[in-house]
Amino acid sequence: MKEKKREGVLDILKKVLFVDILKGLSVTLKYNVSRSVTVRYPDEEKWIPYQRFRGAHTLNRDEEGRELCVACELCVKACPTGCITVVPQEDDTGRGIADRVPKIWKVDLVRCLFCGYCEDACPTTAVRLGRDYELACFNRTDAVRDRERLLRPQEVPEGFEGGMVVSARFERTKEGIRVKPDIWKPRDKDWWKKV
Ligand code: SF4
Ligand code: SF4
Repeated sequence: MKEKKREGVLDILKKVLFVDILKGLSVTLKYNVSRSVTVRYPDEEKWIPYQRFRGAHTLNRDEEGRELCVACELCVKACPTGCITVVPQEDDTGRGIADRVPKIWKVDLVRCLFCGYCEDACPTTAVRLGRDYELACFNRTDAVRDRERLLRPQEVPEGFEGGMVVSARFERTKEGIRVKPDIWKPRDKDWWKKV
């Protein structure tokens, strides 16, 4: 009974002193002075995903610059949507990895599930899902990425940890619109924990 009375008095005091309103206002004020979580993408900033991120494909080379793909077509067989095309040809480049190289290696990103089965099936670690997530295009055919494009070095180096927002530049090039990240200018890595 005494306890109930005490709670009742406390409730009245809370109401008279606007405690709940002040609590709410303090949250609003806290967010007013804390750093914004908004990423100013694409004009000024860009999110760089973690290494384990599965974005658009990339084809790897070894340290000597030799193409790692041996055109075994295991990735084609592992792909549940049939979006990879590999056409092999005899390797007369003398690179010394295998007898075959891909004449054509292409992937249709519209049909891709980004499941990573192709990466898992590859015996030479030639194919990898990279960190490129800017897949929008104006033309259906641009969604099919060919070998030449996939062999270009990734924008974010393989060893870069990622998981952060960095400065970026919005650029219009002949190939279209690009948001070029400057990975050496990261926003505070733990910024999201402080808001
Ligand atoms: S990520 Fe999956 S769906 Fe996409 S190409 Fe590889 S195996 Fe096919
Ligand atoms: S990417 Fe890998 S699995 Fe696919 S054809 Fe080349 S070597 Fe074989």
